[in-house]
Amino acid sequence: MKGERVRVLILGGTTDGAALATHCATLPGVEIISSLAGRVREIARPAGAVRVGGFGGADGLAAYLEAERIDGVVDATHSFAARISAHAAQACATARVPLLALVRPPWTAIPGDRWHDAADMSHAAAIVATMGTRVFLTVGRQELAPFATCSDRWFLIRTIDAPDVPLPPQHTLLRARGPFARDEEEVLLREHAIDVLVSKNSGGDATYPKIEAARNLGIPVVMVQRPPRSPVPYVETVAEAVTWVGTLRASASVHV
Ligand code: NAP
Repeated sequence: MKGERVRVLILGGTTDGAALATHCATLPGVEIISSLAGRVREIARPAGAVRVGGFGGADGLAAYLEAERIDGVVDATHSFAARISAHAAQACATARVPLLALVRPPWTAIPGDRWHDAADMSHAAAIVATMGTRVFLTVGRQELAPFATCSDRWFLIRTIDAPDVPLPPQHTLLRARGPFARDEEEVLLREHAIDVLVSKNSGGDATYPKIEAARNLGIPVVMVQRPPRSPVPYVETVAEAVTWVGTLRASASVHV
């Protein structure tokens, strides 16, 4: 028998992952399980079934795919969540389960932008040490450690949850979750006399206004590049991922 019911695992923790779950929940014959790492508190719960916590590496994920008879996996994790994406590639190959990555296109600099590309967070901290004195740090709470030894600069650190890693001695913490508006970002940059912004190249609309605000105010941006990805098939939009899930339904063996 073909295609009566497919079980799809969405590796999420992102707004795209949640949107994909919402759209797929309306597809007939498709059962969605969203997986969250469980790191960020108060995250909006995606539609459908949700499981929380790590799988125990690639082998654990492969075992989960087999035990739960998963027909397809969409890796909708953040473009900087390199470990889970690598594990997904390995586990899906082991378990012979189709895998699609949903990857937001990165931002690209346009005229007026003053970007300094950093290969990783340590490189970003080294660049910051050579420019600016008042730094707006928007790289998430888990990747702040490389900045902890920057003692001669002041940092405005914006995170969703409180950081639990060492922080630079001179800082102010700002707890906030996007999306953010460009006008508000400009006010924030002015109020704190920011002269350099550090950002991951996350892509998407929700956090792009800080990049626009920096451009408008002529503030340089240290832009941390994405970690390398495993070569797996990918799409750039939720709509394309929904279509892919639909094709799984047409081709999957039935699990009853
Ligand atoms: P990571 O370094 O790639 O993953 C670390 C470990 O966390 C993985 O090995 C895995 O544990 C577990 N894990 C990660 N995502 C998972 C998921 N969706 N479901 C179940 N387990 C997961 O990831 P990270 O950078 O810490 O990010 C954690 C989560 O936050 C991701 O789901 C990501 O989409 C989301 N997020 C990350 C960022 C960012 O900037 N990194 C930004 C926004 C949202 P096991 O090895 O035990 O399976």
